[in-house]
This record gives sequence, structure tokens and C-alpha cells, in this order.
Amino acid sequence: MTESTTQTAADEAAGYDPAAVERKWQTRWRERRTNETDLQNGQRPFYPLMMFPYPSAEGLHVGNLFAFTGNDIYGRFQRLRGHTVFEPLGYDAFGIHSENYALRIGRHPADLIPKNIANFRRQLERAGLMVDWRHTLSTTDPGYYKWTQWVFLQLLNRGLAYKKKAAVNWCPKDKTVLANEQVVGGACERCGTLVEQRFLEQWFFEITKYAQRLLANLDVIDWSETTKTAQRNWIGRSEGAEVAFEVQAHERGAGATSERSAEPGRISVFTTRADTIYGATYLVLAPEHPLVTPLTSDPRRAVVDAYRDRAAKQDLIARKTVKAKTGVFTGSYALNPATGRPIPIWIADYVLMEYGTGAIMAVPGHDERDFEFAQAFDLPIVRVVADAGQDANAPLAQAFTEDAGGHIVNSGHLDGLTVGEAKGEAVRWLEAQGVAKGVINYRLHDWCISRQRYWGPPIPVIYCDLCGLQAVPEADLPVLLPNIADFTPDDSGISPLARHEEWYHVPCPECGKQARRETDVSDTFLDSAWYFLRYPSVDRDDVPFDRELTKKWLPVDSYIGGNEHAVLHLLYARFITMVLHDAGHIDFEEPFKRFRAHGMIIREGAKMSKSKGNVVNPDDLIDEWGADAFRTYLMFLGPYEEGGDYRDGGISGVKRFLDRLWSSVAAARTEGSPDEGVMRRLHQTIRKVGDDLPVLSYNTAVAAMMKYINVVRAHERLPHRAEVEPLVQLVAPFAPHIAEELWERLGHDGSVMDAGWPTFDVALATEDTIEMPVQVNGKTRGKVQVERDAAQDVVLAAAMADAQVAKFVTTAPRKIIFVPGRMLNIVV
Ligand SMILES: [Zn+2]
Ligand SMILES: [Zn+2]
Repeated sequence: MTESTTQTAADEAAGYDPAAVERKWQTRWRERRTNETDLQNGQRPFYPLMMFPYPSAEGLHVGNLFAFTGNDIYGRFQRLRGHTVFEPLGYDAFGIHSENYALRIGRHPADLIPKNIANFRRQLERAGLMVDWRHTLSTTDPGYYKWTQWVFLQLLNRGLAYKKKAAVNWCPKDKTVLANEQVVGGACERCGTLVEQRFLEQWFFEITKYAQRLLANLDVIDWSETTKTAQRNWIGRSEGAEVAFEVQAHERGAGATSERSAEPGRISVFTTRADTIYGATYLVLAPEHPLVTPLTSDPRRAVVDAYRDRAAKQDLIARKTVKAKTGVFTGSYALNPATGRPIPIWIADYVLMEYGTGAIMAVPGHDERDFEFAQAFDLPIVRVVADAGQDANAPLAQAFTEDAGGHIVNSGHLDGLTVGEAKGEAVRWLEAQGVAKGVINYRLHDWCISRQRYWGPPIPVIYCDLCGLQAVPEADLPVLLPNIADFTPDDSGISPLARHEEWYHVPCPECGKQARRETDVSDTFLDSAWYFLRYPSVDRDDVPFDRELTKKWLPVDSYIGGNEHAVLHLLYARFITMVLHDAGHIDFEEPFKRFRAHGMIIREGAKMSKSKGNVVNPDDLIDEWGADAFRTYLMFLGPYEEGGDYRDGGISGVKRFLDRLWSSVAAARTEGSPDEGVMRRLHQTIRKVGDDLPVLSYNTAVAAMMKYINVVRAHERLPHRAEVEPLVQLVAPFAPHIAEELWERLGHDGSVMDAGWPTFDVALATEDTIEMPVQVNGKTRGKVQVERDAAQDVVLAAAMADAQVAKFVTTAPRKIIFVPGRMLNIVV
């Protein structure tokens, strides 16, 4: 940095002390209740929501602040545009994460969480968010989880909560059940331990009943496309058919064939490829399939039983993902309904009982998994789809799975049809024979909400030997989570709560005799599936949410959060909202009108992590640069929906912009008139920032404001007040403290947040240079850059200087047609 610029930078910053300004305005906001929303009477309500954080012991992460600042800017912009904005923020504080941390450091989560929350609150207030802190909440507060339990009862009452013994993913290290979504590559998402399969009694929510609705509504909600795609894939709708295969006979020892020994039964399979039925050369059943025992021939029994035992010990995810194909033959055959030929029936662990019917028809010619299996066990492979121009009997070196352009071969009357045509025709034909019916299948499973842990809301159910399962009466909610010292999970698969007799035993609400409490707590994803409904009504302990306030403020206008929640939290929140709608508690069925996923922040090209020691600490940066510079810099890193790379040196450029804004307002003159050219740039900037903020294009908005301040201060000119005053309003969503201070120094009384959004003059905001199309004999031959109000001879000269145009003007023009500001046509 040269001597002279150092001097200038010091001048620019003269009198601007971010720490003092930020302290002053945070106090002022509290005193003047600037961020408190009049929920009852506010006009044009707008509810921008951010995903609430888990209050970790480490404090606020820069990623949290990146997310919250983006939401805060959007909320502040809506307020400047005249909306009453409600921006609440709370804490998602239950769950295994808090519990494991507490166990590790030998403390109780009930002691840790309030401290963590206090630290988060301090950090969040420093960041200058427009949060109405009267409406904060923590999911661990009995006043909150009372209503989480109430939500459970709504599902129980509607027959959507049920208990069943189920194969579940069990993490032996965390000693808890994991949802399928929490198992990554066969390992626990949290600790990386290989997951086992266990059979436990679990509470489920029947989200599968809502699969079609959850899918269909995706077409009408304004959400990030990536998020919608993730949900569509997760729900996994597939159209297909259930086809019945007649069981033929048992193999009676070596050499014997077709001697019928069992009642002929039928095996129903689900397939999305009925068009390939002629190529089905064997069937595969899940090892747990109820027909496996009757189908197994005596000579095969020992092998089959051993295989089934092995499969039962594996976890569900590994079974879906493990590459090596294993399986055993049952000794039985079924008849392919298309060919009439017998095909062998196998069992293999890659077929799961929960999907479809637990049995598949294998078409090795046209399915990679079936092909590998057929090769491993020497089963027949038949081609029934051929590519355009390909021989019907061309050998298959691998499965041919290309549908487009393929046609059916070796398939009787289906021959020659395209794959698409044959799908419909095959189902119709098999239906006519009474061996198939068209069905729709979903990949989505019911939501297992039981956790055999301590740190969660107890599921509000009581078991009585006389009366059976009893819901805890609403008047008895909340079922308080007892404060117990020993909450370490054990290997029994039973919650630690069961070890506490004084809590476990309870009078039956029906007969009064001694009964037992449910000892499972609910999944933390249930806590977060309805919290947005609670914010406006946190002060009500008689209802989960006030009917009128809910009508006025919900659904949420804009939701911002990480795309890692695309299929868990966001799907569950939609489901719970639909259930509450159906139960008549709310009059909308989609909770978030608009959802945008924000990107990720990395640092100097690397992912931030504690182990690498490269985590940005928001406290340090706010100490050094101020919250305004930090917020603005975070937004300047890259497109908000993509994220950006945090460069340590970069923030000084943003700080210098704020310094220049400060000195420009301080130096602004009122005498004389503003510069016309600068005013033109101002109006262009107002338009640009106003266009960028609604689409969360924050980085380009900051760039536009920086460019503008350079125009204002070109050659160290003295700015006019009219040139800088609207810039204070534009900058307010990003850097609210400095904006408030400058607004006050400009002589205004109220908060800049209530000053409105500056308007622009369309004529002034229009770019002064344009690209004008040039035609020769009515055909566009090129474009020239000219001033909007350029005269005909200027445009003509520019056009003739362009080789692309000039080469068509071979003789002197006979006529010139010129429309100022629009086009030029040269007639030769
Ligand atoms: Zn684990
Ligand atoms: Zn009873």
C-alpha cells in the first residue's frame, strides 16, 4: 500500500468506530423495540424463516451466520418494502448430538443446554439480526415439548402412529436406532460405526399414506429445484405391475423332477419392466419372505436356513449397497406366465421385504444387478430388448439397459414394440389373463420416531395390563422428562428411562391401576417438524398455536436452510403440516411457500473443520472488523445459493467500502445540485440492488453498491447529499448498524428500517449505452454499441466500421431507415 492511499484510507475511516456504532444501535434497538413485531395489528405480514440451530458448546459456526445473514437481509428488504416482518429464531436442542456430548464430558445436558443457548444468543445479537427475541423457543423447554407430545397424539388419534416390531438399523456404539436416512454406506452417519440389524418394538408414523400428496405438491411449491428433485427421488414413485408366478413343483432329491409335492401357490412380484417378462429367467425372494419355508425343498433346507440366518444379522442399508451378490436356490420352480416355462426360485439378501412384494422377477439381460447374479450362479440370460438395427439374438456381454430407441425381441406378440409401448401392452395382456395388475410403488418408508435414549420428549403413551395402550390425556401433558443422573444407554435396546421406577410406574388414566409409561423418546426430527407454527404463539400455554395468529402469519413466506435437510426435516415438516391440516387445526397443507437452499462456505479452498483447525470464529472477526463488515463480506463471497470461499484478506475491501460510505455521508454537501451522471448511476444502482435482493443475488448487489461509491468519489469529488442518502437505505439490509447511524446523522428520527425502499426513475435507470441491431436490406447483420440517444450519422458510421455489416454494403446505400434507440436498416 502506498503512502497516499494509506492516508486516504485513514481519512475515509475517520470517526467510524464499528464497535461503538454497533453497541449503540443494538442497545437502541432493544430500548426502542425496533425488532419487535406487532403480530396482532401489523399490516402486510411477512414471515421469513431460517432453520434453527443446534446450540453446540462450540458456539455459533460461520456457516450458521452465513445462513442467518442471508435470511436477515431478505427479511430487512421486505420490511423496507413496507411489510411487517416477523423474524424469530430458536434452538433445536434435543437429540443424540447433545446427549453424546454430555456423556463424553460427564455433564448433564439439562445443565449444558441453557449455557450454550446463552452463548448463542449473545453471538446472534452481536451479529445484528432483526430477530424478535420475545418469540424465541427451545425444543427442550417443557412449554414447547408439551406440544410436540400433543402433535404425537394427533397422529395417534388419526391412526397414523403405530407400534410394530421391526427390523431396524442399530448403531452398537451410540446404542440407538437409526433412521434409514441416518445410515450412510452401511455405517452410522454420526460415528461411522458399522450398523447392525435388530428387531425392536418401534413407534412409526405412517408417512407412506401421504406419499402421493407429498409428491404431487412439489409441482406447485416454489422451492429450489435441487431440493424438490431430492424429495422426488426419496419418495421414489414407480409405476409398474404386480405379476403372479405360479409355483410349479419341488425338486425331490437328486435327479427327480416335476413331482408335485406342495399345494401350488403363487408368488407375487413387483416390476416396473413388465415389457421384459419374456426375459425373466428366475425369481428372487427376500430371505424373510413368508413363502421361503414352504418353497424350500428338503435337500436345500439346511443351506437355505443358514443363508437366512446370515442375512438377518446384516443391516438393511448394507444389503442394498453391497456389491458382491450372494444367494441360494430354494429347490422350487415357478412358471413364467408369458413363456409358460419353469424358472428357478432363489433367495438373496439384495431383495428387501419392505420394497414391493419382497420378491422380484429377474431379467438378467436388462438389469445390471440381475446380470451379475445370473453370471455368478450360471443362470440363463435372454435378450428381449435390442437396440436400433441390432440383431435380436446378439450376445449380451453385459445387461442392456438403454431404453430409448430399443425395441422388444424374442417376446411373442410384443416383438417390434418400443419399450414404452410394450410396458403398457404387457400389463394389459397379463391383466387380461388374470395374472397381473397395474400398481404404483413408493420407495418411501414409514418414519420410525422411537429413540431408546434419554434426551428427547417422552412419547406420551401408557401401557395398562387391563386396558391396553392408553394415550396420555391432553390435560396431563407435558409428560416431563425426569432429571436423572444416569442416562447412559445400554445394550438392551431399552431406553434408560425404564431403569427409573419412580417415573416408569404410573396410574392408568382409564382404570387407575398401576401401569407403565412408554420409555422411548421421540426423534428430534419431530421437534423440528412443527416449530415454525409455535413461534408466533410462544406465550400461549393453553394451545400449541393461536388460530388467528396462525391464519395471519402462516404459511411461512420464505424459508432458508441447508440442502442437507432436503429429505429429512423438510419432508417431515411437510408431512406433519398435512396431518394437522387434515385434523382441522390449520387451513394450509404446505408449511413453506418458498424454500431456498443456501450454499456452503469453505476457507482458502478447504472445508472448515475443527480437526483442521481452520474454522472461522465469528467473535474474533466481529471484534476485528465489526458485524457490518463481516455480514457484508459473507454475502460478497459468492452466489448465496452456491456458497463461497472465505479468503482471510478479502474482508478489508468490504470494510473500505463501508469507510467510504461513512466519509461520503460525512462530507456530503447540500448546496448546489447533484451531478446528472452520478444520479443516473444511482438510479441504475437502486434498480440493480432491488432486482438482486428478491432472488438472493447478494454478491452482485454488494458489487453494484461498491461500484457506485467509486463513481460518487471519483477523483475525490465532494458528493451531494442526494447522491448518497438513498445508498444508506440500500446498504441497510447488509450493514444495518452503520446504516442506522448514518441515517440519524442525515437528520432522520426513526429507524432506517422504517424509511422505505428508495424508488428509481425508469428513464434515469436505463443504461445509457445500448446494443443496436443493424440490418442490411431488412436482414440483421450485426450489432453496434452506441449511446441510447445517438443520432443517425453516428450509428451509421459505427455500423460501417463493423466488418460483418460492411461486407454486405457493396454499393452506396439507396435508403437509410433509422429508429432512434432501436434499430438501423441500410437498403442497398
Ligand atoms: Zn453411531
Ligand atoms: Zn387400566
